[in-house]
Amino acid sequence: MELPRKILIGEGVVSQVGTLIRSLDAGALRVAIITGAVVRARAGDECRKSLEKAALKSSWHVVSDASMDTVAKLREKVTDLSDFVIGFGGGRSVDVAKMTAFKIGKPFLSVPTSASHDGISSPFVSVRGIDKPYSIKANTPIGVVADTHLMSQAPPRLLAGGCGDLVAKITAVKDWELARDEKGEYFGSYAANLAHMSAKIILDESERLKRKSQFSIRTIVEALISAGVAACIAGSSRPCSGAEHLFSHAVEYVVGPSYGLHGERVGIGTIMMAKLHGLDWERVVETLSNVGAPTKAKQIELTEDHVVNALTAAQSLRPDRYTILSKIKLDKKSAYSLAKSVKVI
Ligand SMILES: [Zn+2]
Repeated sequence: MELPRKILIGEGVVSQVGTLIRSLDAGALRVAIITGAVVRARAGDECRKSLEKAALKSSWHVVSDASMDTVAKLREKVTDLSDFVIGFGGGRSVDVAKMTAFKIGKPFLSVPTSASHDGISSPFVSVRGIDKPYSIKANTPIGVVADTHLMSQAPPRLLAGGCGDLVAKITAVKDWELARDEKGEYFGSYAANLAHMSAKIILDESERLKRKSQFSIRTIVEALISAGVAACIAGSSRPCSGAEHLFSHAVEYVVGPSYGLHGERVGIGTIMMAKLHGLDWERVVETLSNVGAPTKAKQIELTEDHVVNALTAAQSLRPDRYTILSKIKLDKKSAYSLAKSVKVI
């Protein structure tokens, strides 16, 4: 089990990045910061000053996509020049930095500037150009610095997406239970409960989370970090990712890469998988609407055919992961009825 060693959450904590790295005692002297152009312009100075104050040398690398090509280019640049990697920005920067750090065997600090998915604290990474159409395992971040002030400046859609990735844990955990009961798969109760609790907080608090306050951001980011830690404990993405994620991956890889954010697709997938599991799918719809996340395919430009195609292809992307879609095999007709019955289409 590999867990993050230090987690800082709060307003303005980006100014503590340097001292946190020093306190980790990971032998860091030269730090590579992998970031996006907007984040660098918006908060790069604060981060740079904090590193300077801690007498850490820094090199900055701006990336614009999360692909293995970008990782390969970064590897060439940072391998001999850095002994520590920071992913500073949104999902793409964090993913590329995590993968680069993994490839060069250096510690990785996650400094997310939006609360949009649980990869901010987990070892899992989603990068284009790997041979698998789902997240793969890299190293767990050695620490997480989640500055809620920076997160409050991110587009609200990202935070709503984070809630989609969180409600997903109710169906992900159900799928894991199913795999335990029907296939004898290892099931970790602690990891399952932790992931489930992250979803429950969002389901219970969605009325209050409507307002984009520091409370909302903190609640959502804490839940995302806990969910990521659940994956660290399980040693697999099982507690966080079931058939609703397979649906999302199918949209990405079968339909096309530009439909909605990860958490938006996953949230819509959760509505449909909750129905298949016999869970209260209407509560999932209500929660997603409360936080401003989409509940209908057309809100992320998906057509009825797209949804049907993604639903029927989802399980084939990852046959080894037993889910409700392994048990209830959807054909075009039943996939259409399912999506229609929960008003996704
Ligand atoms: Zn996810």
